[in-house]
Amino acid sequence: MTPMSQIRSLCVYCGSSGRGRPSHHEAAMRLGGILAKAGVRLVYGGGRIGMMGLVADAVLAGGGEVVGIIPRFLDQVEVGHSGVSRLLVTENMHERKEKMAELSDAFLILPGGLGTLDETFEILTWKQLQLHDKPVVIADIDGYWQPLVSLIDRMIEENYAKPEHRELFRVVASVDEVLPALEAMPEFRTEVEAKWM
Ligand code: AMP
Repeated sequence: MTPMSQIRSLCVYCGSSGRGRPSHHEAAMRLGGILAKAGVRLVYGGGRIGMMGLVADAVLAGGGEVVGIIPRFLDQVEVGHSGVSRLLVTENMHERKEKMAELSDAFLILPGGLGTLDETFEILTWKQLQLHDKPVVIADIDGYWQPLVSLIDRMIEENYAKPEHRELFRVVASVDEVLPALEAMPEFRTEVEAKWM
């Protein structure tokens, strides 16, 4: 069992767009500073653009460690970040997502688009199927994820999800609450150690 104090890597899923609200950009940058200060390694999609780039740059600016994981075909499109501590290039999207999950002790969702949603549901469904039991936190900056939370509540109401599935994740209103929320979450098993280290 691994207490929060042993959370060394946080996987952040967020948008590749940089055209969101300024408050989202501020949250991304603030989170980067928080992770750097706390000595928590950032694991993310490896891009230099949008929210992804903002978080990575802020961690690096704070002297923190960043591991980017990007599929070969996206390296050009999303402009792989050349300044990260380590950039892993995978053969495809599936390998990327698997690697991101494997190398992380917990997951955080910031505002993003369809790709972010895909990653969010994958990590939640893997947890639902008990393939992992790592903490998942949704940062609901400016209420951005309220429709998602409502949809999940609706699924429960209509018996397509179980009430206990609401416990698969925690929602916080700001990035300042992320590490305290992880601290407050129950201990969990780290099933896969970071083999590449
Ligand atoms: P987005 O939220 O759409 O800006 O995408 C955020 C990240 O998710 C980017 O790194 C995308 O490459 C990635 N992404 C986009 N579509 C998918 C998908 N179908 N499966 C997994 N990741 C995706």
